[in-house]
Amino acid sequence: MRLSFYGAAKTVTGSCYLLEADNLKILIDCGIFQGSEDIVKLNYEDFRFNPKDVNFVLVTHAHMDHIGRIPKLVKEGFSGKIFCTHATLDLCKIMLEDAAEIQASEARDLNIKLEVEEMSHQILYDKNDVKKALKKFKKVDYGEKIVLSPKITATFRDAGHILGAAFIEINVNEMGKNKKIIFSGDIGQRDMTIVKDPEYPSDANYVLIESTYGNKLHKDVEHRDEALLEVINKAYKKGGKLLIPSFAVQRTQDLLFRFRRFSISGLFPKEPVFLDSPLAVKATEIFNKHREVFDEEILKHKKPFTFKELNTVSSVQESKKINDMLGPLVIIAGSGMCSSGRIIHHLRHSLNNDKNTLLFVGYQADGTLGKMLKEGASEVNILGEDVPVKAEILSIDSFSGHADYKGLIEWLSGMKKKPKKVIIVHGEYESQKAFKSKLESLNYSCYIPELYEQIEL
Ligand SMILES: [Zn+2]
Repeated sequence: MRLSFYGAAKTVTGSCYLLEADNLKILIDCGIFQGSEDIVKLNYEDFRFNPKDVNFVLVTHAHMDHIGRIPKLVKEGFSGKIFCTHATLDLCKIMLEDAAEIQASEARDLNIKLEVEEMSHQILYDKNDVKKALKKFKKVDYGEKIVLSPKITATFRDAGHILGAAFIEINVNEMGKNKKIIFSGDIGQRDMTIVKDPEYPSDANYVLIESTYGNKLHKDVEHRDEALLEVINKAYKKGGKLLIPSFAVQRTQDLLFRFRRFSISGLFPKEPVFLDSPLAVKATEIFNKHREVFDEEILKHKKPFTFKELNTVSSVQESKKINDMLGPLVIIAGSGMCSSGRIIHHLRHSLNNDKNTLLFVGYQADGTLGKMLKEGASEVNILGEDVPVKAEILSIDSFSGHADYKGLIEWLSGMKKKPKKVIIVHGEYESQKAFKSKLESLNYSCYIPELYEQIEL
């Protein structure tokens, strides 16, 4: 069998791997590249395989860097089935519809500057392409064996990363010999609030493993609630706004659940919390619908994502009204890396005031506004306006939905026999190299593929 790397090779985003075996072409994930301009450009290139030739797509989870190019794939001729878990499908629907909407509105803005011909290159797909793509999805359960051909089966296992996330085990019978390859997708941290801990992988010949935190350990994991409360209280005392850019899926619900626990136990100061992200509101409804994949503790709460201080903001007018409000108050808004969404106008109005606080609780990719702010930029350009940064910038990294390198090694150790090869993907190159040497010191045989490389397995 042959494996080709069409994304997330020596970089974090753009997950897309093509497995060819038994005359089938199976794509595992088809995500967008995110971050710097050079990387984002790759989304607009033609696929380096013919989408018409692909038989199946298997989707690990509903993050855009794993699903964001699926409508483009369908638009360019893919006509097979797309498999994912129940919760992943519900999340894919809102994520992809939102992506089409963002592209359309960005194109409308650009339209003023660009000729129509140039514009067509700015959009990867529209609402109709998303609609067509969604029709190809088929839902699977964790643990269910999907027969792709008489010689190939696939099984989705709980990856503990976000709601519905899976790692995928693919069994291939080649010339009478069984070979197993595991695609890790993104592996979660243990002991998170909503989803269960990741399942352990069974023995396999090959493992593709993510390495987002291949060179990092999450610090103070057991103190993240205290750290969060400390920031909330400090911001409250300053009397300003506490802005939290948050990913609509998982991180927002994780925050809401933690806030609920603070609120119930009387630890939360008397201030309003505004959830200002229509996408996060929709995602929260989906979380409520999929309690079957919840972890034990959260199941004790009938309405885990509500608390008395919470206000949900719907319209743009309501969102803009918050600009005129005086603190103390908390705003949770998307996008998580400040690259789009309502957080943008909140930042424009709030960064220039030292009473305000900006708290990062998630990964910030290179080249994003979030990364610039996190790294201490003294001035940033927002919507064409230079904004001095006077607000306090803080971050808590331990909320990550990704296992750190210890967690990844622990996950791998679930295999009784070491795989023939561990293929390290989905990480910045520095992180991958560090992770590789850690694994090699434990006698794993490792490989870091190049983007667009093909290997025979
Ligand atoms: Zn992910």
